Amino acid sequence: MGQRTSRPQTASAEETAARRAETQHQKWLREQRELVTQTMRFSQVDRPCPKCKKMQRAEEFETHLVCCLTKPALEFNTDVLEVDQGECIICYEDLLSQQVIARLPCLCIFHEHCLKDWFKVREECPSHPSSDD
Ligand SMILES: [Zn+2]
Ligand SMILES: [Zn+2]
Ligand SMILES: [Zn+2]
Repeated sequence: MGQRTSRPQTASAEETAARRAETQHQKWLREQRELVTQTMRFSQVDRPCPKCKKMQRAEEFETHLVCCLTKPALEFNTDVLEVDQGECIICYEDLLSQQVIARLPCLCIFHEHCLKDWFKVREECPSHPSSDD
């Protein structure tokens, strides 16, 4: 089959986008590295991880932090309740019909805004904290 070779100019836009994406990734990596370095200056003693708030031993702190920062966030689905459910254990108020809720993989449900606030502090189910020690 007679194939026509496309002009090199068409590829350049994609190349620029790829390079920009790479630069953003590099920026992200550098930020993570700076965070680790900053944290290390104060890490001669056992202290909690700034991400998951779990206590880490000084010599394991850096390794843990790198793992913790690169770990994907816990995902949840949002839904609108059709019937009233029990208490939201974050705010202690009832989950009522027509409210927007967030459902975690463990099937626990909370008000969406409650779970989002919770995730700012720790990204795990309030009822099912992970224990990875
Ligand atoms: Zn952590
Ligand atoms: Zn709530
Ligand atoms: Zn749960």
